[in-house]
Amino acid sequence: MTDAPYQVLLYYFYCDIQDPEHYRDEHRALCESLELLGRIIVGKEGINGTVSGTKENCAKYMDALRNDPLTAEVEFKIDPEQGHVFPKLSVKAREEIVTLGLGEDDFSPTETTGKYLSPKEWLDAMQDPNSVIIDARNDYEWELGKFKDAILPPVDSFRDLPQWIRDNREKFEGKRILTYCTGGIRCEKFSGHLVREGFDDVSQLHGGIVTYGKDPEVKGEDYEGQCYVFDERIAVPVNSVNPSIIAHCIHCNEPCERYINCKSKHECNAQHFSCEPCAEKFSNCCSTECQEVFFKLEATQSEQAN
Ligand SMILES: [Zn+2]
Ligand SMILES: [Zn+2]
Repeated sequence: MTDAPYQVLLYYFYCDIQDPEHYRDEHRALCESLELLGRIIVGKEGINGTVSGTKENCAKYMDALRNDPLTAEVEFKIDPEQGHVFPKLSVKAREEIVTLGLGEDDFSPTETTGKYLSPKEWLDAMQDPNSVIIDARNDYEWELGKFKDAILPPVDSFRDLPQWIRDNREKFEGKRILTYCTGGIRCEKFSGHLVREGFDDVSQLHGGIVTYGKDPEVKGEDYEGQCYVFDERIAVPVNSVNPSIIAHCIHCNEPCERYINCKSKHECNAQHFSCEPCAEKFSNCCSTECQEVFFKLEATQSEQAN
């Protein structure tokens, strides 16, 4: 796979961007000149992005960021690919680069954050009987894969995590808290939030699941299922030591990691797991109800076409 002509880059960097709109415009021009596709968010607190492009142009892009004193310390997670994994390029300026929704209580992870654990330290820490592992991602992400024995907050947005922590506080008092996310950016903020909430032993997986899966020593050990990513690949493998499948087809309940969107678009569009035979049987819909809506829609469309 190393001779793949394309790469997917995942990165973030917390730094002081004085004028996010200006930075966004220049950055968009840079990406366009390198024919990169993907999603980048720029804010006063830093930059967060994932892009795909040719190997050569990805190298130029990484050089550009590393040669800028502002982002010189940025770390990239690199995946080889056969082509682009995004349909377009989007570069946006936002208030926050990750939204924990703390309002007035907002803070910078450059001031407060949890301890960083390397993949090997993380694997060891997971064995500690006093540790609790909290998945800092959304439900549709951990349904595809997660660390063994992780606690899975039933939230569909990062901004709902602080409330969930307040409601479940007693579960974590006096524990060694370990938290993780896809590439590490959300945990920088979330672990900092936990420290500010008074938990005194908080650690985060440095570089997230993606780095953990690439680490030559741990090779993704004790991660179950695959890692959800926000591009056309949707699922990427992590564990080459003791892999397993945790997701199930919504219709027949067989182990299945095939995520599709409900075809009953206007009514539902729910991302769900469906094996190929069931997808065919249910016309790519998540339920018989949605399938009926889909059939009705199709009938109206063909009537209009006639
Ligand atoms: Zn099925
Ligand atoms: Zn549906």
